[in-house]
Amino acid sequence: APAPPPTRHLFSDPAEVEALRGNLLAWYDRCKRDLPWRALAATELDADRRGYAVWVSEIMLQQTQVATVIDYYNRWMQKWPTLQALAQASLEEVNELWAGLGYYSRGKRLQEAARKVVSELAGQMPRTAEDLQKVLPGVGRYTAGAIASISYGQATGVVDGNVIRVLCRLRCIGADSSSPAVIDQLWDMANVLVDRSRPGDFNQALMELGATVCVPKAPLCGECPVKQHCQAWRRKLFGNAPKVPDVEDCGVGDCPLCPPATEPWDSSLGVTNFPRKAAKKPLRVMRTATCVLERRGCHGAPEYLIVQRPSSGLLAGLWEFPSLPLAQDLQEEREREELADHLQAWMGRPVAAKGLRFIGEVIHIFSHIHQTYVVYSLPLDGDVTLDPALSPSRWVTEDEFHASAVSTAMKKV
Ligand code: SF4
Repeated sequence: APAPPPTRHLFSDPAEVEALRGNLLAWYDRCKRDLPWRALAATELDADRRGYAVWVSEIMLQQTQVATVIDYYNRWMQKWPTLQALAQASLEEVNELWAGLGYYSRGKRLQEAARKVVSELAGQMPRTAEDLQKVLPGVGRYTAGAIASISYGQATGVVDGNVIRVLCRLRCIGADSSSPAVIDQLWDMANVLVDRSRPGDFNQALMELGATVCVPKAPLCGECPVKQHCQAWRRKLFGNAPKVPDVEDCGVGDCPLCPPATEPWDSSLGVTNFPRKAAKKPLRVMRTATCVLERRGCHGAPEYLIVQRPSSGLLAGLWEFPSLPLAQDLQEEREREELADHLQAWMGRPVAAKGLRFIGEVIHIFSHIHQTYVVYSLPLDGDVTLDPALSPSRWVTEDEFHASAVSTAMKKV
């Protein structure tokens, strides 16, 4: 078998960088997905409106699939087509539109930042990645780079989950990809690679490649426009790396970017040897009792009580059925009694634990929590007066419930 090529972690050959840019951009021009924020960024002539359109899409796309975002994005831009319109919206309206998209603080911070741009910067978005990150709440290094490169043509790289995967494969980076040392290297690489004349397209192309070709489990290497620059692909073809790597390209022995000696290249995994991450922390396990209180509304249709969560913390400001976090390992009878006591405080009248009807359990995974909702229902006769000193609450029909700012977890309940 021919000798495998040495591992080259960095992009130090200008001719290779140029070729990679050209191949990637040509592929992007042919194959890019038709997405509403791309259409807006390409046709909007006003720089602030363009920046706003990209910013909204980038915030929505954090931790969320493109297919889910499209509908939310279109509704958002229809309702608040400019920063000025968003700055005038209420938080309740923002939460209502965001309901179901998850990570709710994103919407809230987007609106706070829009207000800041309007009131403190006369409606003009900062034009560079550095200023965007410095000035706008909720805008981190990635989002700032994306807005600046796509909207304003700044030649600055971006690193998100897709880019991490692509770059780690292109350069056989097998050290923990969430470690600060590796992340710094990846940012340096992204800044070296970014095309100087089409930075926004280049960054989107790199992300698009990660989303559609260089996917996590079964990458389509045969169709990849940059496979000739990919070290992981070459290693897959040629087998193991040479025992003595090229000193210029890879620090021999304790290379901070190679896979650790304890977890060497596994030929059965091929290119999916990269990237590697430290093991995830286990999810926090939580159990919450929740009660669907039901009454007959004025036209005889059923209505349900929802209450508002506190304005900070998980699902801040969203509405839910009255709920109570439970200690782990409580007996079912005890859970019921605690929920009854909680409801009693709400309604200012006795609630019999036996009157609570057990409906079932709903499991919902938040980013760091494995939540089980133990669901009960309680039909009520006559009018109920709720203690106004407790959280805001209101009665809603089923349709009103779905139009309210409620989480996906509550919709499952
Ligand atoms: Fe990813 Fe395969 Fe392309 Fe390498 S050749 S960048 S592993 S899709």
